[in-house]
Amino acid sequence: MEVYMHNIIVTRTTNAQKKPEKGEKLPFGACFSDHMFIMDYDAALGWHSPRIVPYAPISLDPAAMCLHYGQEVFEGMKAYRAEDGRLLLFRPEENFRRLNRSNERICIPYIDEALCLEALNQLVDIDQDWIPDSPDSSLYIRPFIVATEARLGVKPSDSYLFMIITSPSGPYYEQGIKPVKIYVESLYVRAVRGGTGMAKAGGNYASSLKAQMEAHKLGYSQVLWLDGIERKYVEEVGAMNIFFVIGDEVLTPELSGSILDGITRKSVIELLRLNGYTVTERRVSIEDIAQAYDDGLLREVFGTGTAAVISPVGELRWNYKTMIINNGEIGAVSRFLYDELTGIQWGRRQGPEGWSVEVQSN
Ligand SMILES: *Cc1c(COP(=O)(O)O)cnc(C)c1O
Repeated sequence: MEVYMHNIIVTRTTNAQKKPEKGEKLPFGACFSDHMFIMDYDAALGWHSPRIVPYAPISLDPAAMCLHYGQEVFEGMKAYRAEDGRLLLFRPEENFRRLNRSNERICIPYIDEALCLEALNQLVDIDQDWIPDSPDSSLYIRPFIVATEARLGVKPSDSYLFMIITSPSGPYYEQGIKPVKIYVESLYVRAVRGGTGMAKAGGNYASSLKAQMEAHKLGYSQVLWLDGIERKYVEEVGAMNIFFVIGDEVLTPELSGSILDGITRKSVIELLRLNGYTVTERRVSIEDIAQAYDDGLLREVFGTGTAAVISPVGELRWNYKTMIINNGEIGAVSRFLYDELTGIQWGRRQGPEGWSVEVQSN
């Protein structure tokens, strides 16, 4: 039995699963590694009993509050295998800082970020053979917290489970980076100011499915959300923040409380500024975007998020208007950011201080 600094107790599996073969197709989030991290919370003990155990189903009381009122938050990040064999994480402390901001909004007790980082390090170290070594593949990491109190009254739960599971994933772009078609959603909304849009919470996704399905039917891969009050200002895309290159300026919606504070978004803003670009964070309306398009100034549109890193947008459809961006091809700013960020993540390039964190082995 191994016990770590924060008393994380490890029970190794005696039934290791077959790892994916090199080059095997790995649909996103469909296959899971041998172990998982788990920790409990109750009012008397606080967060306690951190442990790494074999990956297995968990048991919940049917009255567990997460099953009824959606008290749940999550994170998404990746572990990368560098060519020289190092195992790398990308700004992982940002994810646990954000997890606590989500906790605050959803009334879940704060969690010790240092303990989370250590748990993540141990879990990735133990399951390191699950990190694919094919190009552009990684181990997707999903930390999450669910309310477990068996109670049908509406109130914050008094017990929780915090878990981290990991899933080997193949390249996001099977045939090289390809611009996507996005539907600007004018009927449904994702979040409103004062709501839970800034939290990474499952409930935000439940409310987004309907629009997503309707956009799929029309041949669009995702929706671009507008603000929940006037349906006028641009917010974000599915699980990505959005950027526009207009003339010489790079523009992205400001953090208004209803959009997610993406770590890729933040890194893109920092990288662009370090490289001499002008980046503005402000409220921007879809009319202004359409006007820039008509004026021939809308040079690029791209989404940012952990899964795709940079996702160029080749077409934006807003009501009856179809905007074809940069001839449906990836633009120079998107290409630069994609190469730079993936270079840092996979350890091919040196990024700003502290962005790449090496997994320590035990
Ligand atoms: C996770 C997420 C993002 C992207 O955040 P990253 O930290 O860059 O991965 C953007 N929008 C929503 C709604 C998200 O859930």
